[in-house]
Amino acid sequence: MNAPFSNSDAPSLTLSGEALRTHAREWLEKNLPEKFRTDRMVDAAPTLEESKTYEAALYRAGLVGITWPRAYGGYGRTLREHLVVSQEIGSVPMPESVNSIGKELAGPIILAIGNEEQKKSYLPAILEMREIWCQGFSEPGAGSDLAGLRTRAEKIGGKWRVNGQKIWTSGAYRAQRCLLLARTGTVEDRHRGLCLFAVPMDTPGIRVNKIRSIDGKESFCEVFFDDVEVDEADALGLPDEGWNAAIRVLSIERATNRMHRSWRFENEMRHLVSACNADPALKALLDDGYYRRQLARIGVDLEVLKGHIETVVEALSDGQSVGARGSISKLHWSEAHQRFVALAFEMLAKASKPDLPEVRAVRSRFENLYLLSFAETIYAGTTEIQLGIIADRIMQLPKGRK
Ligand SMILES: Cc1cc2nc3c(=O)[nH]c(=O)nc-3n(C[C@H](O)[C@H](O)[C@H](O)COP(=O)(O)OP(=O)(O)OC[C@H]3O[C@@H](n4cnc5c(N)ncnc54)[C@H](O)[C@@H]3O)c2cc1C
Repeated sequence: MNAPFSNSDAPSLTLSGEALRTHAREWLEKNLPEKFRTDRMVDAAPTLEESKTYEAALYRAGLVGITWPRAYGGYGRTLREHLVVSQEIGSVPMPESVNSIGKELAGPIILAIGNEEQKKSYLPAILEMREIWCQGFSEPGAGSDLAGLRTRAEKIGGKWRVNGQKIWTSGAYRAQRCLLLARTGTVEDRHRGLCLFAVPMDTPGIRVNKIRSIDGKESFCEVFFDDVEVDEADALGLPDEGWNAAIRVLSIERATNRMHRSWRFENEMRHLVSACNADPALKALLDDGYYRRQLARIGVDLEVLKGHIETVVEALSDGQSVGARGSISKLHWSEAHQRFVALAFEMLAKASKPDLPEVRAVRSRFENLYLLSFAETIYAGTTEIQLGIIADRIMQLPKGRK
C-alpha cells in the first residue's frame, strides 16, 4: 500500500518565481490526458472518476491549494504564486474543475470563519477530491435578492432542522457537501438571522432533481430539504454571521475565483486563430478588415481582463481589501467573453471545410462555449446587479429610481 500523501512531498514546494512557473508548465504538458484536451475532438468526455483522479494528481503536484495553510493540506504560498500557477493552468486547454465550488468558494470561507476542527476535516478532503461541494444559495424566490431567501434552519435539541428549497445548484447531484445558506431568523430580518452550513448531501430528507441546461447537459439541480437534521458541528460561524459570510463568498466569487480565466480566454483565442488558418474560408476572414477589427477589440478586452486580475492580486497581497472592485472584473469578463465567443461562433459558421479535424474540434469547443456564455452574465450576480454595485459603491452615485 502507498504511504498517504503529505503536502511536504510535492515537488514544487521549494520552487519559487519562474522555477515554479516552469514546474507547472512542464507538469501540465506531460500529464494532461488527451481526452481532457478541450482543443481536440475526443470520443468520450472524461468521467467524474477520471476528473477526480486527474485533479487529485494536480494537487499532489503542488498546483492546487497553493495559498491554503500547510496545516490544512495546502502549500502555504503567496497569492502572487497562485497567480503564476493560474496563468499556466489557464494557458492549457482543459476543462474547469469539477470541484471549483469546494476549492474556490467553500475552502476560502471555511478558512475565514470555520473553526479548527472544521478546517482540519473539510479542507484536505476538498484538495484530495474526496469531497465535492455545491453552493446552495439561490432559491425560486431569491436570486439577485438573496436576502429574501426562505429556507429555514431551526435549532431543535442539539441539531439544526432544515426545510426549504434551493435551485440552480450546480453539480448538486455529484456533491458530497452543500455550502448552504439558510434563515435562522424571520424573512423580515432580511440580512440578519442567516447562517451558513456544510451539509452532507447524503443526509436523509435531501432530494436532488437535475435540470437540463441549454447545452443539453444536466449540470445544475433543484435541491429540496425536508426536515433535514444537520449537526451543530456543521454550522459555519455564528447563527447571525451568515450574511456577512455570504457576502464574502460572493466577493471572492467575483474577485479571485478562477483566476486562470483570462489566460484560458487567451488560449481559446490562439486556438481560434490557428484553426482558422487551416480552412481557406476562415483564413480569408483573418484578412478581412471587419473581422480583424473585431478580433483586435477582443484582444484588447483580454489584456484588460488580465490587468484586472493582476491589480486585484497586487492589492490583496499589499493587504488592501478589494471590496466592490470584484464587480468590475465580474462584469467585464462575462460581457467580454460573451462578445468573444459570439464572434467566434459567427466566424466558424463560415468554414469551407467543416470536416477537417481542426475545424471540427474548434467548432465543437466554441459551440459549447457559446451556449454556456449565456449563463456567464447571470451566475455570480447578474450584469444589472454588478452595474448597480459599481454605481452605488464605487462611483457613489445618488440612489436612482429603479
Ligand atoms: C449556470 C448557472 C449556474 C448557477 N449555479 C448556482 C449555484 O451553484 N448555486 C446557487 O446558489 N446559485 C446558482 N446560480 C443562480 C444564480 O446565482 C442566479 O441565477 C442569479 O443570482 C440571478 O438570480 P435569479 O435567476 O433568481 O434572477 P432574478 O434575481 O429574478 O433576476 C431576473 C432579472 O432581473 C434583473 N434584476 C433583479 N434585481 C435587479 C435589480 N435590483 N436591479 C436591476 N435589475 C435587477 C436581473 O439582472 C435579471 O436580469 C446559477 C445560475 C446559472 C445561470
